[in-house]
Amino acid sequence: MERKTFGLGDIVQMKKPHPCGTNEMEIIRMGMDIRIKCVGCKHSVLVPRAKFEKYMKKVLRPAEPKPETGGADSTPSA
Ligand SMILES: [Zn+2]
Repeated sequence: MERKTFGLGDIVQMKKPHPCGTNEMEIIRMGMDIRIKCVGCKHSVLVPRAKFEKYMKKVLRPAEPKPETGGADSTPSA
């Protein structure tokens, strides 16, 4: 069986959709328990890691490192 990997900020798909109809959740806290936030209604829930791994289907969008902004203009002025 494939091991599930996930991290803070990942958007994951759950096996069971949220009552609001969305089954995409964002991981907003990692620890013994994992806090996920529904992408649809912004409702957050705290679930034990074991339960989360059971209900998580897959990672839809891994958290991307934010592109640096500000002071990125390195073009020398002519
Ligand atoms: Zn929801």
